[in-house]
Amino acid sequence: MIKIEHLGIAVKSLNDADPLFARLLGKDNYKTEEVEREGVKTSFYHIGESKIELLEATREDSPIAKFIDKRGEGIHHIALAVDDMEAEIQRLKTEGFEFISETPKDGADNKRVVFLHPKSTNGVLVELCQEKVNN
Ligand code: ZN
Repeated sequence: MIKIEHLGIAVKSLNDADPLFARLLGKDNYKTEEVEREGVKTSFYHIGESKIELLEATREDSPIAKFIDKRGEGIHHIALAVDDMEAEIQRLKTEGFEFISETPKDGADNKRVVFLHPKSTNGVLVELCQEKVNN
């Protein structure tokens, strides 16, 4: 694990949340990006070496829509940067952690991502992410 890459925050509306976070952080987001497969639209802010990712659902069966239904808006996941995704997945499996899926997928912001199951991490949804190279 290298660092906390970003914190993911579930919001009902980026139209409402973006101006608020821009005021909070004193700067505008550096990108918005839709991840069609996950049914989310994201908005990213740099904050020091880390980032904040706002997540808005784009459809009702989106994991973000389900999360907000159950728990309301708020912190959704913590993303840890790794430099060798496959090695970290193996290491964490050996340590007894469970994954939602062990196959890395394309995520927002040029990353490959996997998620650990929150039942094995004290209720915290943990994302591992690795910068994609040359594509
Ligand atoms: Zn994330």
